[in-house]
Amino acid sequence: MQFDHIKIVMVNTSHAGNIGSAARAMKTMGFKHLVLVEPKEFPSQEATTLAAGAGDVLENAQVVNTLQEAVADCALVVGASARSRSLPWPLVNPREMAHQVLALPSSEKTAVVVGRERSGLTNEELAICQCHVHIPSNPEYSSLNVASAVQVLCYELVMSSVSLEARDKPAFGVEWDQKPANSGQLESLFDHWQKTLVDIDFLDPNNPRTLMSKIRRLVLRAQPDEVEANILRGMLSQVDKTIRKS
Ligand code: SAH
Repeated sequence: MQFDHIKIVMVNTSHAGNIGSAARAMKTMGFKHLVLVEPKEFPSQEATTLAAGAGDVLENAQVVNTLQEAVADCALVVGASARSRSLPWPLVNPREMAHQVLALPSSEKTAVVVGRERSGLTNEELAICQCHVHIPSNPEYSSLNVASAVQVLCYELVMSSVSLEARDKPAFGVEWDQKPANSGQLESLFDHWQKTLVDIDFLDPNNPRTLMSKIRRLVLRAQPDEVEANILRGMLSQVDKTIRKS
């Protein structure tokens, strides 16, 4: 099984050693695309030392400024989280995550995102993801080392890839007629949606509450394809035109 369409994204990692250990974890499982969002220190000797024979994963790692940038081309974005959030979001275990990822054709890119050592992923970062994956762990001490989390998630992808069942079952039970919208397209949709809602006085920018998070959750849960996302954009453009006329 090739995992070339799957990238591991590490957000704002503090300890360079963890980047090296994650690279090693990835390579042992057959993954090579590592994306680093604002790492504290990289490149680094410590990362190279801990990567051991996986120096090539570090050399090819892409460094970007934002999570949006890291996942813009991805049809599926999964965020790994050690704790549950105030606003419930679709949640899967690593095995279910692997099934979802492998149900997509390998022409579609997927990102598996892990967070900061101390504080994990922010609510805003988690809201970019279609679903969250939690590694079952001791409820009193549930936070794995970030490179260990990468190891477990990659391992589950390997295990699922050898199960025919996961490989042969498409995401919605049938071959879909359109490409899934990618994260970049969905982020543009959300930006547009928010702007229009402010323009029509549905969203108060001074008191936004959780409205946009709920819209995000609804849309991400539905996994819209490109045509569906364009229909929504088209409706918003028509609303914009109509209010400009009035
Ligand atoms: N204290 C942080 C945990 C940071 S651990 C928090 O409460 O969120 C660093 C990263 O490793 C997390 O952001 C997450 O991506 C991953 N991770 C650690 N333990 C995990 C678990 N049990 N399930 C899923 N991801 C986990």
